[in-house]
Amino acid sequence: MPHATFTPTELLAVIDRLPRAKLAHLPTPLEEAPRFAGAIGDARVFLKRDDCTGLLLGGNKARHNEFLLGDALDQGCDMVVWGAGVQSNNCRQTAAGCAKLGLECRLYLSRGHYSTEPQGNLLLDYLVGAKVEFTDAKIGPELDALLAAKAAEFRAGGRRPYFWHRPRVVPLAAISYVVCVAEVVQQLAEQNLEPAAIYVSSSGATGAGVALGAKLLGLTCPVRLICPMHWPWHIPTALANDANDAAAMLNLPHRLTAADIDADENFIAPGYGLPSLAGQEAMRLLATTEAILTDPVYSAKALAGLIADVRARKYAKGDVVVFLHTGGVPAIFANPAEVLPPT
Ligand SMILES: *Cc1c(COP(=O)(O)O)cnc(C)c1O
Repeated sequence: MPHATFTPTELLAVIDRLPRAKLAHLPTPLEEAPRFAGAIGDARVFLKRDDCTGLLLGGNKARHNEFLLGDALDQGCDMVVWGAGVQSNNCRQTAAGCAKLGLECRLYLSRGHYSTEPQGNLLLDYLVGAKVEFTDAKIGPELDALLAAKAAEFRAGGRRPYFWHRPRVVPLAAISYVVCVAEVVQQLAEQNLEPAAIYVSSSGATGAGVALGAKLLGLTCPVRLICPMHWPWHIPTALANDANDAAAMLNLPHRLTAADIDADENFIAPGYGLPSLAGQEAMRLLATTEAILTDPVYSAKALAGLIADVRARKYAKGDVVVFLHTGGVPAIFANPAEVLPPT
């Protein structure tokens, strides 16, 4: 017997039992994009505007941080130790949440191929008072270990740090995307519509949450996770585990397997953080038809995945295809050459 599913209202009530900091503008709008849709095929396209979550220029990490910083406050933490790439949207919105909640924010940013000029997300980190250090540790297990070591140092010095501890923060962040899917279902129901597919940029928490949300709400449509990066692990297995940890945190019996995770790694080329031709086309198309920006690292590549599927006639005329716009827009100011059309 499959476990019973929830209405959006019931599911949101279950989630409301967890500690949470109010940081995001929710629910975000769900907007139809008719000129964009008309340019790519016959489906209807709706944009879930998580680029409009607020918290220092929007994006999916505002939702994540409601639960992560809510957890930090619940544990009595007085500072946050976080890290990712120099142009991390995650770090920008965590720094913003910390400023708003009065938590000290320490960021360890992996240099990779990035310039450390104060532009884009990095500029915003400084403006909200985060203390930034650069590192050559690679994003993933190496940077995770550095953050754990830094947190241990602060703890030894008498501080109470909340840090990027993947087994705890990824499932909590995933829960915030269960909320997002519940909002989408509610917003479509107001127009008597149901989704034919959901697209989102994710190799991690966001996608795990969207897949879990779809399961808990009884959606049967494809949930297409368009990956911005590879990880040194099998993404469907990891995301099913993260989704299951999230379900366990909600005291729900529902479980996913790797087969429930449709993670498409075909739109990453030429690599994480590097612009792709398909992504650049997607970005230009949405900007010139709807005046809505995407970013070259995440949302534009995911939109390229949606465009490819619509052009391949995966959907029927009038089908409702939902794109969860995860934001990332500040990154375009750090890399103008990557987003301007060639002259
Ligand atoms: C972080 C991020 C994502 C994906 O997040 P996951 O952790 O892989 O779920 C997608 N889009 C944007 C703009 C992001 O900043």
